[in-house]
Amino acid sequence: MASALSERLSRIVKEMRGQARITESNVSDMLREVRMALLEADVALPVVRDFIARVKDKALGADVVGSLTPGQALVGIVNRELAATMGEGVADLNLAAQPPAVILMAGLQGAGKTTTTAKLARHLIEKRKKKVLTVSGDVYRPAAIEQLKTVTAQAGAEWFPSTPDQKPADIARAALDHARRHHFEVLLVDTAGRLAIDEALMREIQELHAVLKPVETLFVVDAMQGQDAVNTAKAFKEALPLTGIVLTKLDGDARGGAALSVRSVTGVPIKFAGVSEKIDGLEVFDADRHAQRVLGMGDIVALVEQVTAGVDMAAAQKLAAKVKSGEGFDLEDFLEQLRQMKQMGGLSNLIDKLPAQLAAKAGEADLSRAEKDIKRKEGIICSMTPTERRKPDLIKATRKRRIAAGAGVHVQEVNRLLKEFEQMRDMMKKMKGGGLMKMMKRMGG
Ligand code: GDP
Repeated sequence: MASALSERLSRIVKEMRGQARITESNVSDMLREVRMALLEADVALPVVRDFIARVKDKALGADVVGSLTPGQALVGIVNRELAATMGEGVADLNLAAQPPAVILMAGLQGAGKTTTTAKLARHLIEKRKKKVLTVSGDVYRPAAIEQLKTVTAQAGAEWFPSTPDQKPADIARAALDHARRHHFEVLLVDTAGRLAIDEALMREIQELHAVLKPVETLFVVDAMQGQDAVNTAKAFKEALPLTGIVLTKLDGDARGGAALSVRSVTGVPIKFAGVSEKIDGLEVFDADRHAQRVLGMGDIVALVEQVTAGVDMAAAQKLAAKVKSGEGFDLEDFLEQLRQMKQMGGLSNLIDKLPAQLAAKAGEADLSRAEKDIKRKEGIICSMTPTERRKPDLIKATRKRRIAAGAGVHVQEVNRLLKEFEQMRDMMKKMKGGGLMKMMKRMGG
């Protein structure tokens, strides 16, 4: 999805170049593309319709802002709306309850409930230093109880035994009692899976909810379920007062549309994402970051073209071509980028145009210091010979010392600059190689 939507959007940006205003007809053209991309990403149709209607409302008649082309202004609107629909920011687990704080896990069979229960146990132990007990209420599949026992041990949490001849509500009471008497801070309750929505099993989990009075009721859903996830989510939302969603198997679904659908139809925040089968494969869900993933990397190519517009078109185009091809990006190009950033009249301007997550990081920095930093980096690159700039790999210890002396800085600063350059070069190679997801993950981690 990442590539589909971002490719479509950058095409729109190009086509709309030169038009001064967002009009009814260019909005319609663009929204057709967005709609196709969202459907391809497996976002449910009613969700897509709502989304398109909202973007259309916001976009129509909007004036072109500052130096933005109408295409980019529209992309900006889509981007913001996507992040808003996804829930914006991070929604943490609520553990504010008389201990033990109970977390009830609900979802279809195979969604990843048991795995996620153990991952959450580990998360709570490591990140929040909690004493955690798990219990399985799945009396239909003895294997499920055993599975929870095994993965709980891997998580380093404690497991409360249950057997298939017990009633789920009795298991819940016994576990709660045990947790209280042994001062557990969190009790995680895994529940019976169902292959499809099933009245009897729904009543059972409602009863569990009544007994346990959980502070969190998490709906676990498989991201690969795509369109079906919507109906399941609706049914669970009607049956239970859900407080959060865990989206599993996001590692297997490059399209990521389920997040948008599930969040839209339930109105409940997505709190975690499962990203591998392993016990540590759980991430706190960051809506802004996921929106960026869905949209692609904030279209870095367009960004490079845009921020350099009117500065030196020939150089900018050369640079953009290199970004596109991922080949031969050298320190000369890096220097060119630094210079153009300076000419743009301040970094804050650029930050506005970065993907949300990068911008947040950049925003933490002191801008005037950042501008001085650019000057210093320019100084360092200027102390290099043209050959060194074209072949940065030549720069070893002796050359570093000479360059540092020439620029009047410490060798560490030369190292820092080279590292930054390498990161940028790697990033460009990855963008070209389609390793966008991997890169997003690394940047978030
Ligand atoms: P349950 O029936 O809801 O308890 O589902 P399980 O916890 O048994 O998970 C079903 C399958 O999905 C297992 O093979 C898990 O290893 C796998 N699984 C769960 N979460 C993830 C995830 O985030 N990524 C991947 N790749 N696999 C997962």
